[in-house]
Amino acid sequence: MSSEVTELLRQCAADLGLEIDDNNLGRFATFSNELKKWNRKINLTAIRNDRDIVLKHFADSLTLVGCVNKYGSLLDLGSGGGFPAIPLKIVLPKLKIVSVDAVEKKILFQRHAARLLHLSDFTALHVRGEELVKSYASHFDWIVSRAFADLAYFVSLALPLLKDEGCIIAMKGRDGKEEAVAAKKQLAEQGVEVMECIHLKLPVSGDDRYLVLMAKTGARRSG
Ligand code: SAH
Repeated sequence: MSSEVTELLRQCAADLGLEIDDNNLGRFATFSNELKKWNRKINLTAIRNDRDIVLKHFADSLTLVGCVNKYGSLLDLGSGGGFPAIPLKIVLPKLKIVSVDAVEKKILFQRHAARLLHLSDFTALHVRGEELVKSYASHFDWIVSRAFADLAYFVSLALPLLKDEGCIIAMKGRDGKEEAVAAKKQLAEQGVEVMECIHLKLPVSGDDRYLVLMAKTGARRSG
């Protein structure tokens, strides 16, 4: 990553209220390089240059930082090349992350990246979300996904894996709010309510994003 793109990442993070130290900037640069390298052989992402990787993958992933605590356990369902799981893990190293994808080569890439970046408490699993309940029933404080599935399907997979007081977060584009409103009734039938629909604009591009925060109906939540 050129010093210009590194500076862009620092600036994007600052816009999101986050300070990234030099050590972590180096990790993001390494991750970007590996993503580009592996992408020549396996299809991890359509986004292929450092600037777009910073803006569309790293900054977008980091929008979650305000919604999750430093501690606790988080599942990323359908994480592909590691988004949002790996950027989150870099800036929140104490968070225990399980990152899941149904495509093995994507998980092999994530494990390779995790080794290079010295990420601990980061588990990349090649499994379908539908099968996780055998090992992770009622396990997670947060379950997140980006570009994975419609809200009702995502929730149907996430719900059995969520602690009672846990939170499900769908990262959505500009139609996120409408999708949340349209799904309200179905979500209620699933025993879930939308707690908050946070609107934000990505740094630089100004693209609209919504974070749809959901919880079990009537659950007692701490903070
Ligand atoms: N979250 C990443 C990837 C999104 S693409 C990003 O935003 O860049 C959706 C990913 O979900 C794909 O990698 C696909 O393999 C995975 N996927 C789709 N259905 C799945 C399922 N049932 N269980 C696990 N992963 C699934």
